[in-house]
Amino acid sequence: MNPIECPCGSGKNFESCCGPWLSGKQSAPTAEALMRSRYTAYVLKNVDYLVETTLPATREPDLADDIRSWMNQVTWQRLHVLGTTGGGRSDNEGTVEFIAEFIGPHGADRHHERSLFKKVKGSWYYVG
Ligand SMILES: [Zn+2]
Repeated sequence: MNPIECPCGSGKNFESCCGPWLSGKQSAPTAEALMRSRYTAYVLKNVDYLVETTLPATREPDLADDIRSWMNQVTWQRLHVLGTTGGGRSDNEGTVEFIAEFIGPHGADRHHERSLFKKVKGSWYYVG
């Protein structure tokens, strides 16, 4: 993989894609942008970002440990965004359906999820 290309698979340069969201300089403007940046955070093993972008009310006490142990068992291969509902700049809620391909403890595998996102005080959060 080209090291400058964003891991989320957008084909864009990291600094003009998920980079600003991960650095905390700006917050992701849409649910899909947040979802992509969370995938990138998994690839880059940025646990803090994943915890911070989870809706505070749904954060389990051992969330960081869960994320860390999951990260250490998988090598992420590719992200496919299948579709979105809502989640735009003027929405407060949205879903993103995606497939993330990875190599896990049992070989090549894929994670298919339809995630719910909510916007609170101008920032998007992952709900579940
Ligand atoms: Zn990206």
